[in-house]
Amino acid sequence: MKKLAAGNWKMNGTAAALAEVEALLAAHPAPACEMLLCPPATLIAQMAQAARGSALMVGGQDCHPKASGAHTGDISAAMLKDAGASHVILGHSERRADHGETDALVRAKAEAVIGAGLMAVVCIGETEAERDGGQTLTVIGGQLDGSVPAGATAATLVVAYEPVWAIGTGRTPTLTEIGEVHAFLRDRLRGLVGGEADGVRLLYGGSVKPSNAAEIFAVPHVDGALVGGASLKAADFGAIVAALSA
Ligand code: PEP
Repeated sequence: MKKLAAGNWKMNGTAAALAEVEALLAAHPAPACEMLLCPPATLIAQMAQAARGSALMVGGQDCHPKASGAHTGDISAAMLKDAGASHVILGHSERRADHGETDALVRAKAEAVIGAGLMAVVCIGETEAERDGGQTLTVIGGQLDGSVPAGATAATLVVAYEPVWAIGTGRTPTLTEIGEVHAFLRDRLRGLVGGEADGVRLLYGGSVKPSNAAEIFAVPHVDGALVGGASLKAADFGAIVAALSA
């Protein structure tokens, strides 16, 4: 399977930041891995326009489970698609924490995304207290079971393992810990989506940067990365793309 370098710009970037996209595409016109950037919704159409004809795919960071209606401030999967998105991140820990998103809501959103013909990037991950309490596999196993829609396939689902305590902190699990979780997730996915599990990309996320990317990508069952801070700069994200393409 092709590996996936996915970037999450979170609530960062205005039109001026699209210069980073131009720089990224100039440096990596034809990478061996897939490249995805998920800017704020306000930039999706412009970024999709800048990425036209290139290897870069564009995604959203969240959507509403319904297709349309009286939901002020929300955005539907069909609208993201119309703006040029091919993927939508769902259940990021910041949304689970800031907006109280449950596994059931994440699954409903993932169903909407897949129903609209887009790929769902479902995020799961344990808190530091849960890891310290030896609960990591129980927690992420439960999140996976609750968040992945029935009938998801390798063509509609990506799963991102992002330990909450590793996001934006500069800290990462050990390579052994990452390997343990990814092997566990592959196995657990088999129970959920059968043979499709082998083709579903399992991304690691949490303080991935140019200096640690290569060693993380060498861990079995790590099929790419979901990158926050380091996706904002073309040089940093490009170095991660290069590490995944090696
Ligand atoms: C993220 O929020 O998805 C993330 C992984 O952030 P960072 O790379 O900045 O830790």
